[in-house]
Amino acid sequence: MIMSAKLKSPPTVDVKPAGDIANPDASPVAAMNVRTHVAHETHPAPHMDFNRISDERFQEAADHLKLEADIQMVLRTPYREMIVQIPVRMDDGHLEMFHGYRVQHNAVRGPYKGGLRFHHEMDLNEVRSLAALMTWKTALVDIPFGGAKGGVTCDPTKMSRDELQRLTREFTRKIDMSLGVYRDIAAPDVNTNAQVMAWIMDEYGKKHGYTPAIVTGKPVSLGGSYGREQATGRGTMIITREVCNAWKIDLKQARIAIQGFGNVGSWTAQLLAEQGAKIVAVSDVQGGIFVEKGIDIAKLFEHVKATRGVADFPGSRAIDNEELLRLPVDILIPAALGGAITGDNADAVSAKLIIEAANSPVTPRADEMLRARGIPVVPDILVNAGGVTVSYFEWVQNLQQFRWDLERVNAELEKRMIEAWRQVYRVHTEQKVSLRIAAYCVAIEKVAEATRQRF
Ligand code: NAD
Repeated sequence: MIMSAKLKSPPTVDVKPAGDIANPDASPVAAMNVRTHVAHETHPAPHMDFNRISDERFQEAADHLKLEADIQMVLRTPYREMIVQIPVRMDDGHLEMFHGYRVQHNAVRGPYKGGLRFHHEMDLNEVRSLAALMTWKTALVDIPFGGAKGGVTCDPTKMSRDELQRLTREFTRKIDMSLGVYRDIAAPDVNTNAQVMAWIMDEYGKKHGYTPAIVTGKPVSLGGSYGREQATGRGTMIITREVCNAWKIDLKQARIAIQGFGNVGSWTAQLLAEQGAKIVAVSDVQGGIFVEKGIDIAKLFEHVKATRGVADFPGSRAIDNEELLRLPVDILIPAALGGAITGDNADAVSAKLIIEAANSPVTPRADEMLRARGIPVVPDILVNAGGVTVSYFEWVQNLQQFRWDLERVNAELEKRMIEAWRQVYRVHTEQKVSLRIAAYCVAIEKVAEATRQRF
C-alpha cells in the first residue's frame, strides 16, 4: 500500500488483515493485530527535497561540461526503482508492515552498488538522491561499479534483534530478483552494519548458494575485508590530510568538531586523532560533548560501548548538535545525516573548513552562503568514497577467493583516494569551480564517456 503522508515519522495505521501473511500457523487473534508503517512515495522528504538538491548539482556540473542533452537525459534519471512491502511478525505477535526501497541509478560502468539504510525518515526521494551520489562516487574513485541505494522505513532503535533479523531477511527476499554479484551489490549505511550484511548474505545464499560477493561490509569471518569497517573514516582522514597539505593547514594544530559518532564519525575521529589533530567535540543523535584540550577517542570508544552514546563522557561539557556546528574550530566534519547545514544555520558556522563525511550534509543554499564567507566545503562524493572503495576490494577478494592483508587494503585505498583528490583539485584550480562541482565534473565525464560508448 502506497500512501502520501506529511508526518515527520512514518505513521502507524490500523488495518484489518485479509489473512495472516507472515505465518499461516499463527493464531487468528494475533493475526487481527496488524500495523502498517506507511511508505512515503509521493510526499517530499520529511525535512528536505534531497533529490532536487542532487539534481541541481548534476545540472550545474553538466552545464559546466556542456554535456550533450541526450546523455544528460540518460544520466539524470534512475534505471529502476522498487518499493516493496515487508510484513514482519513482531515479538509480541502482531504483524507490522514496513516498506523498503531499492533504487538502481546507473550501471554503465559496472554493477549497481550502494548501501542500505534503516531509518524512520527513509523515503523514496532520499534514496533516489543517494543512489545518484553513488554513481558519481564510484566513477570519481574509478572503481567499476554503478550507483544504487536502498533501505527500509523503520526505527531500528525500537526493534529487537530478532525483529530486525526478520525484517532484513524479508526485505532481502523481496528485492532478491534485482540483486546479483554482477547486477547489484549491497553494503551498510546508517543503522545497518556487518551483522545486517551477514543476514542478507545468508538469506540470498538459501536460494542461490554460497555468494559472499552479494554484499560488502560483511563480518571478516564471513568473507568481509580487513579494513572495511574503518574505510569510510580512513578515506575521510586521507582527504582531510591532503586538503590540509594543499592549503598549508597544520593538521597537528587543528581543532576539529565531528557531528555523528557512528561508523563514519567514530573512525574519522580516531584516525584524525592518530594524525595528531585535536578532536574537541563530537555528537550523536542524543547530543554532543566538548573537551577543550581534546577528547581521548580510545576512551570515548569504551564509553560508547558501555553506554551506547557519547553523552556524559567524563571530563566533557554537554553541548547540543546546533552548538557543535557553531563551534569556532578549524575543521567541521558533518558525519551523521543529510541536511545538517542549511540556509538557516550556515551563517552561524564558525569553522574554517568543512569536510562532508556524511552524504548531502550541506544544502545548496548553505553552500552559497559558506562560499560567500570563504569557507570551503570538501564534497561528500570525494570525502566518503573510501567506504565504497574498500567495498570494491572486498568484492574482488570474494570473487577471487583470495584475502588481502590489511596493509594492502589500506595502501590501495590511499592510492585511489589521493588520485581522486588530485583530479578534483586540478579541475577546481584550473577551471575555477567549487570543489563540489569539480568532483561532479570529474565523475560525470567518466560516466558520460562510458554511456557514449554504449549507445
Ligand atoms: P551510523 O548509523 O553508523 O551512524 C550515524 C551517526 O549519526 C550515529 O552516531 C547517530 O547517533 C548520529 N545521528 C543520527 N541522527 C543524528 C542527528 N539528527 N544529529 C546528530 N547525529 C545524528 O551511520 P554511518 O554509517 O556512520 O553513516 C553516517 C553518514 O555517512 C551517512 O550520511 C551515510 O550515508 C554516510 N556514509 C556512510 C558510509 C559507510 O561506509 N557506513 C559510506 C559512505 C557514506
